[in-house]
Amino acid sequence: MALTGVQIFKLLPKTNCKKCGFPTCLAFAMALAQGKADIAKCPDVSEESKKVLGEASAPPIRTFDLGSGAKAVKVGGETVLFRHDKKFFNPCALAINIKDNLSDDELAKKAAEAANSEIERVGQKLRVDAVSVEYASNSSAQYEKAVKLVAEKAPDASIILNCKDAAAAEAAVKAVAARKPLVYGATNENAGAMANIAKTHSVPLCACAQGLEALSALTEKLQGLGVNDIVLDSGAKSAKEIIDHNTQIRRAALRKGFKPLGFPVINFVLRDNSIQEVSIASVAIAKYASIVVLSSIEKWKNLALFTLRQNLYTDPQVPMQVEQKIYKVGEPDAAAPLMITTNFSLTYFIVSGEVENSKVPSFLAVMDCEGLSVLTAWAAGKFTAAKISQFIKDSGIESQVSHKELIIPGQVAILSGALEDKLEGWKITVGPREANAIPTFLKSRTV
Ligand code: SF4
Repeated sequence: MALTGVQIFKLLPKTNCKKCGFPTCLAFAMALAQGKADIAKCPDVSEESKKVLGEASAPPIRTFDLGSGAKAVKVGGETVLFRHDKKFFNPCALAINIKDNLSDDELAKKAAEAANSEIERVGQKLRVDAVSVEYASNSSAQYEKAVKLVAEKAPDASIILNCKDAAAAEAAVKAVAARKPLVYGATNENAGAMANIAKTHSVPLCACAQGLEALSALTEKLQGLGVNDIVLDSGAKSAKEIIDHNTQIRRAALRKGFKPLGFPVINFVLRDNSIQEVSIASVAIAKYASIVVLSSIEKWKNLALFTLRQNLYTDPQVPMQVEQKIYKVGEPDAAAPLMITTNFSLTYFIVSGEVENSKVPSFLAVMDCEGLSVLTAWAAGKFTAAKISQFIKDSGIESQVSHKELIIPGQVAILSGALEDKLEGWKITVGPREANAIPTFLKSRTV
């Protein structure tokens, strides 16, 4: 459990020497309690106090990397039950499960699907993050071969070794040790052998048990055996069980500081019916899963799950924004149209996409309105005639175009008169109200 400022104060030297940059030990203790200072700033604190404070300040849900390299994904590290309380930090990783008894061609094809799953949406790269190789062949040699092949065909994906046979798992871990695979998993029966593998190769280990009581007993056992990077599988399979177990795990970790359940959660949502699978996966993403394993990753399914995940893991207090500048869509020449909009990511990507669809090379002036959409920015006084005219003057666009015409969004047609007053010599044209009318609008100007 987190310590209060007074509890922390009792562990400090109480000399008020100011070496930490705070006027008193109590002020430093208060800052520590709020997570605004680092205990390392006090050079005189005892080793024993450091240990107590270090344990107390450890995050309630352990954070570590799934995989290695630039595309490793962080799992865990969440601090709130509800997104609106602060934000969710580490987006849930999506994985595809691949059985090792498929033919080499099928294994390669499925791995390549994961490798090629990346799409861009509102400026962010979204993809299937991991491949889970299932030990279905019951042959250690076949499993190792399949793991190697999948790892080779999906070089950036994190790997989950879905194998409860310790000998087969160890051979596979050795084959892809540099990729830091997640070993899935340890049960009450094989805990000792699996813990040894995890420690020897410094890889995370999944604790698999039926129900939360058995699960917390297992994680305590694994920690006792020296494993710290643990993922939880409570055996939840239905939507009801996933909501129930994942919520209890998150609550126990955050509200009660219950360490045995303070780890990221994995849910296998495999179903024969894709619609059902994507529905259960959505429940798992919304309710606290850190890793969701799917049986297939069709494009429509990815798009639905990527969008849900992206929306849940953005900061609700900070609108997504793009940089304020004049963007070129296509290769505009000096006579190309000049349009203006705000820097809300979604607005920018929709408007620039429609300008691109028009095939009319254009300049798109994107103005910083703190990430607000056009109407909201106008209503908030951030997209006004005075501010737009200043932005246009400062942007230097006048020297890049041979005309003086600015196309404004139809939703703020009301600004046209004031803008013509402020931007002397400029013609203000009112564009469409909706972005999907932009292609017709731009094309009609070229005929
Ligand atoms: Fe107190 Fe340590 Fe800060 Fe000195 S450096 S004032 S002892 S907390």
